[in-house]
Amino acid sequence: MSVIDDSLDKIEKDREDTAQGNSTRAVHGGTQRRKAFNSLNTPIVQTATYTFGDTQELIDYMERKTWGDGDDREEYGRYGNPTVAAVERKLAALDGGEDAVLYASGMAAVTSLLLSVLPAGSHIVMTDDCYRRTRQFCLTFLKRFGIETTVVPMGDHAAMEAAIVPKKTRFIISESPTNPYLRIADLEKISQLGKQYRVLTLIDSTFATPVNQRPIEYGIDFVLHSATKYLSGHNDLLAGVVIGRSDRIQALRDARGVLGGIVDPQNAYLLDRGIKTLGVRVRQQNATALAVAEFLDQHPRIERVWYPGLLSHPDYAVAAKQMSGFGGVVSFEVAGDLKATSQFIDRLKIPYIAPSLGGVESLIEQPALMSYYEKTTEERLALGIKDNLVRFAIGIEDSDDILEDLSQALRS
Ligand SMILES: *Cc1c(COP(=O)(O)O)cnc(C)c1O
Repeated sequence: MSVIDDSLDKIEKDREDTAQGNSTRAVHGGTQRRKAFNSLNTPIVQTATYTFGDTQELIDYMERKTWGDGDDREEYGRYGNPTVAAVERKLAALDGGEDAVLYASGMAAVTSLLLSVLPAGSHIVMTDDCYRRTRQFCLTFLKRFGIETTVVPMGDHAAMEAAIVPKKTRFIISESPTNPYLRIADLEKISQLGKQYRVLTLIDSTFATPVNQRPIEYGIDFVLHSATKYLSGHNDLLAGVVIGRSDRIQALRDARGVLGGIVDPQNAYLLDRGIKTLGVRVRQQNATALAVAEFLDQHPRIERVWYPGLLSHPDYAVAAKQMSGFGGVVSFEVAGDLKATSQFIDRLKIPYIAPSLGGVESLIEQPALMSYYEKTTEERLALGIKDNLVRFAIGIEDSDDILEDLSQALRS
């Protein structure tokens, strides 16, 4: 609920149509039809605190809050903001969840969620092809609080089940698609294991976006996105979100008021603006990525392509079953060594060399030189990172131009 015009909240809820498509939800989802000052866009409520007219108003508010009914206005910026709340409602609508809580970055979302939910002495099961910082947080930070993590191979559900310690395991964590091999988690299997053993399930769905995959529909408890990537879509802000059942999200929102990782109202506005074009951007990125994957798959100078939309990908069948698009990232191995691979990258004219993904600009990186620079070739191989591996995060440039650019860089 929001202080902007809460009398219209109910009308808006009535109008919300669960059968609406992704693009309609991306533009209108969760937003009030009438906003303050008759503004079409969600106003940026740039304030750190909120005022009370007099002492009686303050007392009335505190009384309602004591009765668990204090949601009709905001009190202080760390506890809530109307611009942030509007984006949260939109993100919940997009992923088909009851509520969403927005954070200052994807990692703030990961760390706040786990710190808020996990008791001391508990246990996590995590799949191996995982975002490096998430893994680092679980294996080093949480370990200091006596929380243990077992890492199991992606796709090995027997190992996942065997790793669950009854009454101790609180979370199964997986990404889908993963980075950089774009492995796909079987959402139905993970959700079934979670329910059977009463363990919470979390899917980091950053690479998929709600346009391509909606884990909540498979019974997954929490969906997380680094909104820095596709959701914002313009490489100009950091944000993160967790979506799930409303009582759980409210608990996370209360915890956010303590941990402090709320997103700035200005960034929340930019995120809302970015999300409006999510549908068109992601569909274009899906189409170009598939064309790029098929082109590289045929190319004699490419050894191997990793893309879940190719039959040769180990998880093609799962991806085809649970995704409506295969995403905008293509990973591949160039026929050649570290240096030959760098030379190919340097010949490209369109993509920038940069970490991250999901924005309008194509970005390319050689993981051996970006995320794993300090390691030797042998150490990297032990982690499954080959020197000739390239991760190509496709933007919204014209497909033909991207294909032509790849073609010229491979020709030389
Ligand atoms: C980028 C990313 C994160 C971290 O998000 P930030 O917004 O950079 O903090 C987490 N998970 C995945 C899969 C990511 O790609």
